This record gives sequence, structure tokens and C-alpha cells, in this order.
Amino acid sequence: MSLCLGGSFSDLGLSKLVYLSRDNVEALLDMPACIDSMRSAFQAVASGNVQAPQRTIIRMADRPGAFGSMPIYSPGFGSAAKVMTIYPENHDAGLASHQGFILLFAEDHGEPLALIEAGSVTELRTAAVSGLATDLLANPGEVTLCILGSGVQARSHVKAIQCVRDVTRVQVWSRTRGHADRFVDWVSDNSGLHATVYESPEGALAGANIVCTVTAAKEPIVEADWLREGCHLNAVGAFIPTARELDTETIRRARLFVDSRGSAVIEAGDFLIPKGEGVIDEDHIVAELSELVTGKVVGRQSAEELTVFKSLGMAVEDLVAARAVYDKAVAEGVGSKIE
Ligand code: NDP
Repeated sequence: MSLCLGGSFSDLGLSKLVYLSRDNVEALLDMPACIDSMRSAFQAVASGNVQAPQRTIIRMADRPGAFGSMPIYSPGFGSAAKVMTIYPENHDAGLASHQGFILLFAEDHGEPLALIEAGSVTELRTAAVSGLATDLLANPGEVTLCILGSGVQARSHVKAIQCVRDVTRVQVWSRTRGHADRFVDWVSDNSGLHATVYESPEGALAGANIVCTVTAAKEPIVEADWLREGCHLNAVGAFIPTARELDTETIRRARLFVDSRGSAVIEAGDFLIPKGEGVIDEDHIVAELSELVTGKVVGRQSAEELTVFKSLGMAVEDLVAARAVYDKAVAEGVGSKIE
């Protein structure tokens, strides 16, 4: 496919620019490779090789929607900006809730290299980061996996946790029963695992030793007393100060890790609401994922403790994943030239 806009992008020196669709991304970057890429991303953060301002999020006043932009530069990877809308109720209209693009630029001369469908990259990289955190924080051994939510991230999180642990069982709760049913069918068709739907989060959490919360919930769907001793939890859904998935006691009990302290202290309701209640302070965050990746900070200290990884998503994840997709696309001659 080539796009014609009544002129030529090559006139502007954009001769290298390719478009990579969702299908291209899915064919080029699998979950194990994406987890490796995310390890590299957090190593780059640890070495100070990342320049990125706080992301900009416009929360739309007249509708349940948000528009975000996330620019970044990192030597070795280049520059990128992800621009994306998040409309949580879009599924009712048959559309994805997260839509947008990543524009990737070359490091040496700054030329635009690729326009990449962002929903697929976000789907993969977010779960890959949870997979990485799980690998670093969860107890070893067989896993009963609890997934709260049944959307895009629910699916990619099953794949990611399967990459790092021996999952034997999946327990699912989702707000809409039909969506939970559809998701367990997907799990058995795509992962070879048996999944069971529960009527409540409490039921789905019972006995689980790894938990992923991947919902657009605003109020807690997890209470501390429902969690099995020694479990590891990836809290992925909430990304504004007034929304959370975990109750205060879960955060208070947890050894708490984040992707970015800078973002957690201004965006994460899961952290900010308990802090506002005076139950925890900023020192409650043990470390960022980059400090775990390099071994600077000890992760889990005992088999019994609860570990929580609060994910908000970072531009470096998009840049490094986009770069991996682009490099492979060039090597394999994949993608549509934009000219
Ligand atoms: P989807 O739109 O595909 O799925 C949304 C899920 O949230 C559905 O399972 C839905 O349940 C559930 N849900 C919606 N509203 C509520 C509610 N009020 N209470 C409980 N559950 C609710 O989104 P994704 O899977 O792509 O994303 C899931 C969450 O993760 C979102 O909040 C998203 O913003 C966040 N996210 C975080 C990223 C990060 O880097 N940390 C990156 C990408 C996404 P049902 O369908 O059963 O009603």
C-alpha cells in the first residue's frame, strides 16, 4: 500500500518513512522478544540514557475520554512520540479503547522512519513490562493466575505471564459477564490453559499467586484480605489520581514497586489515595523497575510478602518496542512505504 496525499513525502526528505500496521507489529514482535526489549528499556533508564518529559494527558471534560502524548529521546534507539486517545467506552461502538500512532525518528539525522499503529505496541509492551516485573518479583513455582478484566490487556497479560512462569490455571472476573465468558474461550483457544469465570473479584482472587488487574475501574476491585499470602500483583489499569484498582490496605501491606516514581507521585490513584489518607508516604515506594532490573535494589524479601508492581506506562517502553519492530521490518522488508 502507498499513501498519496496530493504531493510527495519524499520531496520533504521523508523517503525512508514506512507505515507499520497492527498486523505488521503482531507479526514482527512476539511476547518473549518484547520482554527482552523491555529489559533493555529499563536498563537504558537505569543508565540515565533517557530524556523524556512527563507525558501530557488531557482528560476530556465533556466525555469519558483522554488524549495523551509521550515524546522521548534515547541514544541508541532514536526519538519517538506516541499520540493516543483513550475512550474506555469505545467497545460499545465496536472500536478499540486505545487508538493512535507512534512516530519513530532516526538518531543520527533525525529523519522520520516509521509511523506505527500504537494500540498493538501498547498492548504488547504493557504486558511485557508486567511480565518482566513478575519475573523479578514473583515467587518461583506453579502459578494460579488471576486476571481481573477481560479486554485487550487481559489477553496480552496471559501471554506475558506464561512467558515467565509455569501457569497451570487462570481465574477470571470481569464487570460484564459475557465479556468474561468470551475471554475464557480466547484463553483456551490461544494459550492451551483452562480458565474459569468467577462472579466476584474475591472469588477469582482466591488461591491465586499472581494477579493482574487490567480494568478501567475507578474504585477498588481488590481488597487485601482476598489475596493469598506471598502473591505478586501487577496493577495496570488506573492511570489518574482519582481512580484506583487496589484498596488502601493492599497498598499499605505491599512491598511496592513502580515503573516511574515521577509518574506514580502525580498520576497513580493506587498510590496517591492511600497517601492522601495519611496511611503511607513517598518512602513507601521501594524502587522503580529500572533499579530491580540492574539488581540495585532487592525485590522480594520473603516468600510470604505481598509484592505489587504499579504500572502507568512510560514513553521509553514505546520507543524501544517501536525500534525493535522497525529494525525487524527493515530486515524483513515489511511495511508500506509512505511516499
Ligand atoms: P479494554 O477497553 O480493552 O478493557 C477494559 C476492561 O476494563 C474491560 O475488561 C472492562 O470490563 C473493564 N472495566 C471498564 N470499566 C470498569 C469498571 N468501572 N469497573 C470494573 N471494570 C471495568 O482496555 P485495555 O485492556 O486496553 O486496558 C485496561 C486498562 O489498562 C485501562 O484502564 C487502560 O487505560 C490501562 N492501560 C494501562 C497501560 C499501562 O501502561 N499501565 C497501558 C494500556 C492500558 P467489561 O468489559 O467486563 O465491562
